[in-house]
Amino acid sequence: MEEALAACQQHICTTYARLPVTFVRGRGCRLWDDEGREYLDCLAGIAVCNLGHCPPELTKVLCEQADTLVHVSNLFYTQPQARLAAELTRLSFADKVFFCNSGAEANEAAIKLARKYSWDRYGPGRFHVVTMKESFHGRTLATLSATGQTKVHKGFEPLVEGFTFVDFDSVPAVEAALTEHTCAVMVEPIQAEGGVNMPASGYLRDLKALCRERDILLIFDEVQVGMGRTGSLFAYEQEDMAPDVMTLAKALGNGLPVGAMLAGQGVADAFVPGSHATTFGGTPLVASVALKVLETISNPDFLDHVRSVGGYLAGRLEELRSRHGLVREVRGRGLILGLDLDRPAQHLVEKCLERGVVVNCTHETVLRFVPPLVISREEIDRLIAVLDQVLGEESA
Ligand SMILES: *Cc1c(COP(=O)(O)O)cnc(C)c1O
Repeated sequence: MEEALAACQQHICTTYARLPVTFVRGRGCRLWDDEGREYLDCLAGIAVCNLGHCPPELTKVLCEQADTLVHVSNLFYTQPQARLAAELTRLSFADKVFFCNSGAEANEAAIKLARKYSWDRYGPGRFHVVTMKESFHGRTLATLSATGQTKVHKGFEPLVEGFTFVDFDSVPAVEAALTEHTCAVMVEPIQAEGGVNMPASGYLRDLKALCRERDILLIFDEVQVGMGRTGSLFAYEQEDMAPDVMTLAKALGNGLPVGAMLAGQGVADAFVPGSHATTFGGTPLVASVALKVLETISNPDFLDHVRSVGGYLAGRLEELRSRHGLVREVRGRGLILGLDLDRPAQHLVEKCLERGVVVNCTHETVLRFVPPLVISREEIDRLIAVLDQVLGEESA
């Protein structure tokens, strides 16, 4: 461990406060460190490894494709990319997909598409995007400008122009912020990094109606909550509506870097040759793996499992809330759940890690659980036992 830790500290930009563990192997919901110690992973590489670590059926696809064709650029057609786009559009509201390599890039594409769509119809000047306080959309200059958290802005000003932040879960707040310059409203269906914040039912539908009235595009950032995380393939499905544009990344490649921006035909048509580009987006290698991920997660039995174990985990977290006074609230849906404490929670993450369970803290006071979606009830029981100990020590 010392070796990797020292080399990373010396040679890698210190943009992360890393925990002192070096992982060398993973399988399902288990990870092993370089001393052979086993951990239960309830973070999944930040909601990425939804099928768990190294599932054999993905490894097989990955190896076969690596031996067939890895990359040729988007100057040509490739079969895995074509199949993945066909499947993503068949399974969603969208007609067209732009592939890229990360969540930030998918959101960049969405912001550019919204500006271009509006420019084509209304001319210059209508480029403002309303986003939410406590949102998270990425770390590139445009997506950090879109992010409603001053701590990610600090030191990087001047920001990209045209973003306005309003309270999450308030349609009147959005309405009050709309001007003749607004081209889009961008929102996470559940705020993830912001502390697992759930809007009231009807909020997203009402936003859609408001946007429709004024020909403003509604963009859903499903980078974290898409791909089965909430118990449906996409989070919007549970609200009986669809956005105009949606972004995906994290779990789409189960750990291979891939992002996607999806839109309906009339909106997607604003992009023409030369509008936008990326060298790597949707390579045969990542697309073949993402296709397998999508086929697996979209299976109704798989989604049933997510809802069922998600309900089980939520129930067991509620038990912890009733037993430990420092727990204020349990929030979330499916397998994105948060335990909001009355105090900062980072040191509890470290205590869980010492006991062999990987969890994460977001927004200061919220323990966030985004395990692989293949997690079992027995594994959830192990998580709960450790949390029970750690929370017990905290209140003692
Ligand atoms: C992680 C995340 C992003 C950024 O994705 P990267 O792949 O890190 O660029 C954007 N939006 C949401 C909701 C996220 O959770």
